[in-house]
Amino acid sequence: MNNKLYGKLIFELSHDGSKGYSLPKNEFGNYKLPENLRRETDARLPECDEMTVVRHYTNHSGNNFGVNNGFYPLGSCTMKYNPSINEETSSLKPFANLHPLQSADTCQGALEVYYNLQKSLAALTGLSEFTLNPFAGAHGELTGLMIIRAYHESRGDSKRVKVIVPDSAHGTNPASASVCGLEVVEVKSTADGIVDVNDLRGLLDDTVAAMMMTNPNTLGLFETEIPEIAKLVHECGGLMYYDGANLNPMLGACRPGDMGFDVMHINLHKTFATPHGGGGPGSGPVGVREGLEEFLPAPKVIKTEKGFGIETNGEKINVGAFLGNFGVIIKAYTYILTLGKENIRLVGPFATLNANYIKECLKDVYELPISGLCKHEFVFNGLKDKSTEVTTMDVAKRLLDFGYHAPTIYFPLLFHEAMMIEPTESESKDTIDSFISVMRQIAQEAKDEPQTVKSAPHNTPIGRVDDVLAAKEPKLTYYKNK
Ligand SMILES: *Cc1c(COP(=O)(O)O)cnc(C)c1O
Repeated sequence: MNNKLYGKLIFELSHDGSKGYSLPKNEFGNYKLPENLRRETDARLPECDEMTVVRHYTNHSGNNFGVNNGFYPLGSCTMKYNPSINEETSSLKPFANLHPLQSADTCQGALEVYYNLQKSLAALTGLSEFTLNPFAGAHGELTGLMIIRAYHESRGDSKRVKVIVPDSAHGTNPASASVCGLEVVEVKSTADGIVDVNDLRGLLDDTVAAMMMTNPNTLGLFETEIPEIAKLVHECGGLMYYDGANLNPMLGACRPGDMGFDVMHINLHKTFATPHGGGGPGSGPVGVREGLEEFLPAPKVIKTEKGFGIETNGEKINVGAFLGNFGVIIKAYTYILTLGKENIRLVGPFATLNANYIKECLKDVYELPISGLCKHEFVFNGLKDKSTEVTTMDVAKRLLDFGYHAPTIYFPLLFHEAMMIEPTESESKDTIDSFISVMRQIAQEAKDEPQTVKSAPHNTPIGRVDDVLAAKEPKLTYYKNK
């Protein structure tokens, strides 16, 4: 790390007259902007030589933490390894240089990849057909709800305005329903952390458009009452929506289509190993069961006798430009081919094994509010020993000192000191054992030297930031004299 440059703003490295660019010779002459479009004073831009600029940003990029830096047990986010071969295939020139408006006969290979992913996702989930158009999980939810609304409208059933969402749901569920113009109704969880069927019964009537479920839910628990819930919701005329962002532990083990779901989304940037979290972009394909295909958005890729084609249909729902994030689609398809039919069956079981192993090794020092088998993730409610003043926030900050990303904290909202841990299947036992020993060490420190934990992190470029101040009075502009 270059200490002279490190930690400074680019403005603080500025020297009047320094230049960080060299433009080619001007061959076009000068053009004077109209008076009303010109600035009255010069823009306050930093002036730095090229090496200073390069070093400044290179050193900053080193402060990022990603899956390629260390263990990243961020619950609900499935931060699994993003294999390098995915980057290689998606950067191949014939893919990377495509133009979205070029004709289908000039890009048959790309369309075949697209078509095959549509089909692979249908096979993996037990649904009939998929659209790859949505750009994120939340975008997929919105698309799915638009499909559900279109289905009810097509039957002249216009009174269905309610969407039932469990209290443990990801925040995007109620948000998507609202954006879609539907009304959110919350269904409670039982003490065991799954949807309370009795509470659900009281909410069902002929105004229900859909029920959204995440499975396994955000507590990492398999929703065992799904058959009963699907039956009840279908009986009152509603559709079942599966938030498939947590599909990872189900991969190869069971399929939402077989559980009675009608519509679902998948996060390619979680389950199918494409990068996300600042490293995006994402992709949130949506699948439907047989009978709902006509409501899927256009465009889609079809296979005909003459080859692959793009079907557009102006009447249909449209959720984005062209065919979605094609680069992400290539990466996800590469991941599926790399694993193959046999190995993809191991993803869910290994993700589940890793989560249960961590849970069992730590539950004597961290409070486990819901015991028993979990799926890909689980939630602790802070340290078991409540006599120390050490909070979940403190533990999360202390983990950074040991080179780990923190788990998801203070979510779900069902517990005050929630700490949600998801290791994924891609971590080795050695990595997981080291994490467990550090978590145990922090629990011990909380007793012996709580101040060390409460004042962490100690080894990062900046210590603990004031979250509230940063949110309420962010400093987004540099003023030299202040
Ligand atoms: C991540 C996640 C989402 C949202 O996905 P985005 O791609 O971030 O929009 C929705 N539901 C659950 C359960 C998730 O974990």
